[in-house]
Formats: sequence, C-alpha cells, structure tokens
Amino acid sequence: MARSKSENLMARSRKRIPGGVNSPVRSWSAVGKSPRFIKRGHAAYLFDVDGKKYLDYVGSWGPLIFGHANSEIAKAIKKALEKGTTFGAPTEGEAELAEMVHTMVPSIDKLRLVSSGTEATMSAIRLSRAYTKRDKVLKFDGCYHGHVDSMLVQSGSGMATFSLPDSPGIPNAYTQETLVASFNDIDNLEAVFREYTDVIAAVIIEPICGNMGVIPPAPEFLHALREITKDHGTVLIFDEVITGFRVSAKGAQGLYGVTPDLTCLGKILGGGLPLGAFGGRQDIMDLLAPEGPVYQAGTLSGNPLAVAAGITALKLLSRREPYLELDEKGSQLQCGMEDTLSKHHFRATVNRVGSMFTVFFGVDGVRNAEEARCCDRECFARFFHGMLDRGVYLPPSPFEAAFVSLAHQRRDLKKTLEAFENWAKEESRG
Ligand SMILES: *Cc1c(COP(=O)(O)O)cnc(C)c1O
Repeated sequence: MARSKSENLMARSRKRIPGGVNSPVRSWSAVGKSPRFIKRGHAAYLFDVDGKKYLDYVGSWGPLIFGHANSEIAKAIKKALEKGTTFGAPTEGEAELAEMVHTMVPSIDKLRLVSSGTEATMSAIRLSRAYTKRDKVLKFDGCYHGHVDSMLVQSGSGMATFSLPDSPGIPNAYTQETLVASFNDIDNLEAVFREYTDVIAAVIIEPICGNMGVIPPAPEFLHALREITKDHGTVLIFDEVITGFRVSAKGAQGLYGVTPDLTCLGKILGGGLPLGAFGGRQDIMDLLAPEGPVYQAGTLSGNPLAVAAGITALKLLSRREPYLELDEKGSQLQCGMEDTLSKHHFRATVNRVGSMFTVFFGVDGVRNAEEARCCDRECFARFFHGMLDRGVYLPPSPFEAAFVSLAHQRRDLKKTLEAFENWAKEESRG
C-alpha cells in the first residue's frame, strides 16, 4: 500500500527531530500507527495533509476553547504583528492583561507573564521556596506540572504511558526534595504533613487532574488541602494551566470555592499562542526581582503577539458567559457515551468536569492515579483508532483529557455519539 503523506512526513521528520515530534505525546506511541500531520484547522475541525477532516477533541491539548482560527483572535494577532513582534521593553498590553486576569481570578493580586506552563510552575515553586525558606515540595501522583526537573516524579500523561516514573538526566538530589501524595486522599495528605512538619515549602496540585485523564477532586479534599497548608505555613499552588478559564471564569478555584496562594496559568490564557503566567498573593509575588531578591526573567516574556491573543481570548470569554454552554455540551457527550457503554455492556467510566472528559475502559471508577493506571490501554487504542476512522480526533493516550470547545455544534456532538455507538457495537461483537 502506498504510504500516506503523513507517513512520509513522519519518516522525514524522524531524521532530524527525535521521534519526529517536538513533544512526545504527538508521536502516538500509546496507540500505535503514524500520527496525522495537520495542514490546517477551522472551528471544531482539523484537516490533515492527506485531505482527511476530523472533529477535533484535542484542541491543541487545551488552549483552543474557541476552536481553531478564531477570527477575532486572528485579527488581534495581525494588528499586533504590524507594530513589531517583540521589544524587550514593557508594553500597555501587559498591564491590561494582568488587570483582566486579576478581575477574573481575584486571588491573583499580581502576576508575571512567561512563555509556557512549565515556566510558570517552575517559577512558582522557586518563589514558594524563597518565601517559606524551606526546600520540600509536595505533589500528587498523576499530576503533571510541565517538564520541570523536580516535578518529573509520578507525573502522568506521557510519563504514565511510557511508565517512566522518573526521567534520566535528573540528579537524585533534585527529586529528593519532592514528596508525592495520593490525589483525593486526605488521610495520606495528613500523614505526609505529620512526617514532614515545618519543612514543606509548597504543595502544587492540578485542582482537577487533567493529566491522568480527567479526575475530579472530591471537594472536601481541596478544602482539607487548603486548611492543612494554611496551618503549616505552606504555600498552596494551584496549577490551573488546563483548568484556568476552562471550567469557570475563575478556574477550578472558582468552581470549588478554594483559594490558593499562587496560581499557574497557560493554555487558554494565550489564545493559542505561547503564553503562561504565575501569580497570587502580593506579599509573595513582591519577592520577585527587581522588587525582591528572587530571580526570574524571560527574553520573550509578555510577548506582544501572545498578549494580544490572550487579551482577546479573555474578552471573548467575559462577553459570552460560555461556561453553561460548555457544561451542557460536555454533559450531552457524557450522557450519550454512558448510554452506549451500558447498552453494549462495557465495563468503563466517563470522568468529566465541564468541557473536559476522559473515557476509562475496564474500570468502574477512577478517583486517583492508581485507579487510572488499571484502565484497559488496548481497548483505549482500539477506541482511539475506531473513532479516528470515523472522523473523530481524540487524544492519542488513555491518560489525557479530551476537550469540547465553543466551536463544537450540536450536530458535531451528535455525529460524535453516532461514531461512538457505531464503534462500540463493532467492538462488543468482538
Ligand atoms: C500543559 C501543562 C503544563 C505545562 O505547560 P507547557 O506550556 O506545556 O509547558 C503544566 N501544568 C499542567 C497542568 C498542564 O496541563
């Protein structure tokens, strides 16, 4: 059989780019076969180089809450582009975006713009250590906080798929200061704080886990976490790189009514361009240079194109009040999938918060990373390819969140559920 253009491009890319990709999960190593090379996107749709069209539920892994090539964001980027792409000097847009973020997420008194989620978490951790004059950081099994050295311990997503609990190239000394607890487990959390009293600088958490697939928090778990960190003088960092502007205008902290000390943002914040931020309590943020002694910097931080895209994205979100709509769309998909799963006697569960969801096969419920790891990965791979063959593009790993965007129409959701019913019928026949 003749090779597709995607397969040819993969062969070509592999020669000069490790694995042919610039981020491992794009290689489809969890589901097999060659990844599709994308030519363009429009609204809820992706078009590959072989001329195939897919309904997209990856949304570039979270940023594309308006779908692809939103015309107002594109217009804002073009307008900024004509004035120059970077100055290495402050611009009005940065102040405007910081004010908008503060208005939407009031726990963020002050913030710094960076260029990726990884930079945001890395900087928030450094700042927390400086603020508390302590070294240890507690994270949760299955939560991913970017590829920060000290955080690449039991970190979900690609790491979980490749079952590398830790990456080579990271000195043991770096991860010795990292403690790992179990998500949604208050007893475990209390035990860690009993053992490590007065030495934990920060707890960092995805308040809704999105990197072991979607795992919602038990609300009492987040409240307990807030209490215990406050009692111990530990900085609570919410990594809302996915959930910020995704599950509510205030992110997960708004949804569950739990206020962290610091928040990390990315993905939606940049409107599809590289932009991240970390921010929170003024007394902590004012430790940053030049106000304070903690060094943090970036040549392209607050890049005018990314800032223009971000301002436009947040304006569009504030204008539309989109979260009810996103929740309804997510709910329609979840209910339809659950109907199909029970009709065809699958053992499976659909986890969802608003517009982010994951189907876990071979398990009855998933509340933490350990339970997520019990899912049937082979069945997931068949599901992924079955849906792809039917024109639906899902995350190519069982441990990732799928995203519904505002560009997904009712008929798109209906088409997705028909494809799912069709696949499930075939799968259940064996
Ligand atoms: C994507 C992600 C990051 C890392 O962001 P990058 O922009 O990929 O560096 C950090 N935390 C969470 C929760 C993420 O989902």
